Amino acid sequence: MKLSSKIDEVKGIGPALSKRLKKLEIETVEDLLFHFPLRYEVLPPFKKISQVKAGENVRVLGRVLGIENLSTWRKKFILTQAIIGDSSGSIKAIWFNQPYLANVIKKGDGLVLWGKVKIDEYGTYLSNPTHEKVSLEKFQENDLLHTREIVPIYPQTEGLSSRWLRRIIKNLLKKVQNEIKEWLPREILKEERFLERKKVFWEIHFPSSLELAKRAKERFLFEEIFLIELSVLKQRILINQKKAPSIPLLLSDLKDFLNSLPFQLTLAQKKALFQILKDLEKPRPMNRLLQGDVGSGKTIVAMAAALNVVKAGWQVALMVPTEILANQHFENFLKFLDPFNVKIALLTKSFAKINQKKSKKKEILEKLKKQEIQILIGTHSLIEEKVKFPKLGLAILDEQHRFGIEQRAKLSVSNKEGLLCHFLSMTATPIPRTLALTLYGDLDLSILDQMPKGERKVETKIVSQKEREKIYQFIREKIREGKKAFVVCPRIEEKREKNYLWEEVKAVKKVFKALSKEIFPEFKVAMVHGKMKSKEREKIIEDFKRGKVQILVSTSIVEVGVDIPNVSILLIESAERFGLAQLYQLRGRIGRGGEEAFCFLFVEKPTKKAQKRLQALLKAKTSFELAELDLKIRGPGEVLGKRQWGIPDFAMEGLRNIKLVEKARNWAKEILAKDPDLKSYPLLAEKIKNFRVHFE
Ligand code: ADP
Ligand code: MG
Repeated sequence: MKLSSKIDEVKGIGPALSKRLKKLEIETVEDLLFHFPLRYEVLPPFKKISQVKAGENVRVLGRVLGIENLSTWRKKFILTQAIIGDSSGSIKAIWFNQPYLANVIKKGDGLVLWGKVKIDEYGTYLSNPTHEKVSLEKFQENDLLHTREIVPIYPQTEGLSSRWLRRIIKNLLKKVQNEIKEWLPREILKEERFLERKKVFWEIHFPSSLELAKRAKERFLFEEIFLIELSVLKQRILINQKKAPSIPLLLSDLKDFLNSLPFQLTLAQKKALFQILKDLEKPRPMNRLLQGDVGSGKTIVAMAAALNVVKAGWQVALMVPTEILANQHFENFLKFLDPFNVKIALLTKSFAKINQKKSKKKEILEKLKKQEIQILIGTHSLIEEKVKFPKLGLAILDEQHRFGIEQRAKLSVSNKEGLLCHFLSMTATPIPRTLALTLYGDLDLSILDQMPKGERKVETKIVSQKEREKIYQFIREKIREGKKAFVVCPRIEEKREKNYLWEEVKAVKKVFKALSKEIFPEFKVAMVHGKMKSKEREKIIEDFKRGKVQILVSTSIVEVGVDIPNVSILLIESAERFGLAQLYQLRGRIGRGGEEAFCFLFVEKPTKKAQKRLQALLKAKTSFELAELDLKIRGPGEVLGKRQWGIPDFAMEGLRNIKLVEKARNWAKEILAKDPDLKSYPLLAEKIKNFRVHFE
């Protein structure tokens, strides 16, 4: 038996069990060993039977003197009664409705019982005690599984009992323990007083004390974060060894551009732009994340950098997650870069344009090859095989959190001269510090912490279902005054979810129907969602911009950077279903004209946690504060999306802990500084070769 053996090969795991295990993503023996207890039960010390008192919780060891099933006078249930004796005396044990026990436990067996002593019409007895058969001759307390001093309790899963897990995990641990190799560097083990790897599995599953269980958990958390840090920092070293075009800062072009703008850049924008331009000058690939709230003006910064790159003779790619956004960027680039004679094209599934003219995909691809297109803006279409930039200097990814690492990697290509392009990603989602140091640790960060038009004040209210009529009336009045409203729902269609059987999450289609037919028949209501043809969607958004549509119902796609001024009301349905950062971004969509704005959050299922989170939205002053809070309340699993990262659930915990993250980072730095290729740490090198933080 090996750590890497498939669980199907384990004796005692048949097809049914292996299917259940696979549902928990347990495929190998090692996976099963990483299925950690959720908590532990601490049992009382052993007692002589003669000293047992009624009302006590006790653990006793003795021999079965007799066992039988009795039907009770109530007939309804069967009662299994056993007598257990030790050298000091004997006591009765009674189990209710578990008649099979009389077949399992036999007269003469050695037995440990743990349970509560009762005294009532049945006499003095142990009521429904937990039992474990033992050999009295060879009894060793440490061999116990279910009645040991500290008993592991595993996460409740259908069809996988803690009893079964304890047995199988112990057997496997015994079989593979010689194969478990220490890969954590000696110096770390020593200085941090971590448990040895061989010991740590035993102590997490069958701890000899709670203190050791805690230390076992600390080590597992540390090692996961340490591996992330190590691979991320190594990635950084690797990237630093790659060559990229050194793109000079063209000061006079830059000045012309800035002077042509109808506004002044904020100080934050200037700083970020400068950081980017400095990076571009270096012959190493930039890998920078530009983070700033919705409306902080990231696009102009990217545009100024793009212009510099183009004027220096290189091409630029700008990839965005939606067609709406691609169109919006394209128009903006055309507008602001108009005086500078730049050839800009748009390529998405349904659009192909070169400057103002409609074009064909084929034409765009050809002109791109001939460098007759300098900036190409588009959606995922940009990373198709056929799209080839001979001289890509800068790749920009907007709303980067919407993309996977694969897609990012595809956009960041080498060009003809074998040079890797510079990379700029942008996002409005603030990254909590722990994550910036781990999962995003390979990025440099520029932050726009200033709003060009000043902070917007959006009056935000959490509203109950009872207030619905009142809110609708309020919206009605505002629309009569000429205002517009967004209504956002978590999903397109209704769907009953497994975990929300009693609840209907609000869906775009249904809400649209209700609003247009029953509630606001006097207004023009429209809907947009991701499953619509994009032409249709564009048209509706255009109508909304122009005021032909007054209420727009949608999924959260409006969150993705679309700039529609003069929307002053935002109503969010089932608000508890959104992430805090997402709600913050959604809210950032309104009041963009500077007028008064209102945000109403309807809560479908007002749990305590939901209330707490939404209250945080009202209180938080910055989006960073909110991101930290969200991480604290919901945990990284939910904030990041559970399956998005190749990190085990338990390790997600570690991502909340800044001290742990910093400790792991410092160690990773120290090890890499000493030995960048990990030559003297072969097992560790092996470990991170296969380790990569990955998106779905
Ligand atoms: P985001 O950071 O959300 O992508 P945008 O780049 O879309 O923000 O900018 C939002 C709006 O603010 C745009 O209309 C843009 O032209 C404008 N803008 C950007 N920078 C400034 C500035 N310094 N002063 C005034 N308006 C600005
Ligand atoms: Mg944007």
